[in-house]
Amino acid sequence: MTSALPTVEAPCFVCGEDRADRVWATPDRAFAVPGLYTVVRCRRCGFLYQRPRVRDEHLAACYPDHYPRHQEPSPRTPLKGSRGRQRAARWALAQGLGYEAFRDPRVSLLTKLRARRLVRRIRWSCPPWIGAGRYLDVGCGSGGSLGVARALGWRVAGIEMDDAAATLARRFTDELHVGDILTAPFVPGRFDVVTAFHVLEHVPDPVAVARRMLEWLAPGGLLIVEVPNAGGWGARLFGGAWAGLELPRHLSHFTPATLEAVIEKAGGRVVWAWHQAKPRTYLWSLSAWLRDRGHDRLATLAERRPVYGVLKLGLEIVMPLVRLARHGEAIRIGAVPNRPR
Ligand SMILES: [Zn+2]
Repeated sequence: MTSALPTVEAPCFVCGEDRADRVWATPDRAFAVPGLYTVVRCRRCGFLYQRPRVRDEHLAACYPDHYPRHQEPSPRTPLKGSRGRQRAARWALAQGLGYEAFRDPRVSLLTKLRARRLVRRIRWSCPPWIGAGRYLDVGCGSGGSLGVARALGWRVAGIEMDDAAATLARRFTDELHVGDILTAPFVPGRFDVVTAFHVLEHVPDPVAVARRMLEWLAPGGLLIVEVPNAGGWGARLFGGAWAGLELPRHLSHFTPATLEAVIEKAGGRVVWAWHQAKPRTYLWSLSAWLRDRGHDRLATLAERRPVYGVLKLGLEIVMPLVRLARHGEAIRIGAVPNRPR
């Protein structure tokens, strides 16, 4: 394949406005899919989206066979490591995330202190325990999150577009829909937690997908969505070189405000929002930014081990500030349906 993928013009699907301004145009930096792809900003609601965007029937061609999400190694469950660490992880899950089955009244003060430090990290890798423990991961890739959830006692199900990735995900469940999210046969109200990690920015119609995910929730259920944050400092600093653009695979580029608008349009509301920031994504953006300006040697230098290490360390110190200021590289939200069913 040597020519650019066929594209289609479409108005803003958050508000329907046709007028938009061009913001960035970049090639595929990660996998070299041919073509130059453009991000525009909607004149009415500010939504950032790819336009023209790759035609639906050609989206699969944006993903190479070695796409990382499609071949993750074994999942990292929190219940690994030394016996002491496992005890602390179980206490952290019970105390911080509602896993009553893991509550052990005999744990020592030391374990509790250790657990406190673990809670923050565990929150990112484990869903909070809700209801009867029925979990659906939308866009599950090779099943990393399914594996973690199953190890924690959830009954898991998944949806995945990519055949090869889905085959790997079957390690963890027979309940796997291979194909489009909107045609998945799960009945409404079936799950206590539905997650979609870095999925919404890839789908042609995020509002329809969000609506469907909210419908799948049982009463009291929670939808968890994570996307790159186009409203963060990384995007502002690096612009077209920002790692989160991932063109042409990312069709939407959400900010906290536009993600909330999508959830509301889908019939839900955001109940919490967290920001994540990792040095890696800034350093990746920095390399692309330097190369865009012809500083190839500087970029190579910044990628070399000692320099990279020092930069990473420096960023590591700044990261809590970025999270605190709520301008992170990724946003994760919890959402619930608006209408009680
Ligand atoms: Zn709009």
